[in-house]
Amino acid sequence: MKHHNRPTKSESPFILTGKLICGKCGSLMTGDSGTSGTGKIHYYYTCAEKKKRKSCDKKSVQEDWWT
Ligand SMILES: [Zn+2]
Repeated sequence: MKHHNRPTKSESPFILTGKLICGKCGSLMTGDSGTSGTGKIHYYYTCAEKKKRKSCDKKSVQEDWWT
């Protein structure tokens, strides 16, 4: 097993893409970003099933949800 000790500051903020699973339907959560009313960019994950077919009512998860 390799260990990567460098910080997780890559060009992609969505470090959990492919790892986060929707607790409601079991689909992958995919990264997305948006701008708040104050102009601050924030990142969140949305259930892929919800995005595609709107057949899931899982709420989007904010990036800082696990920090
Ligand atoms: Zn879902």
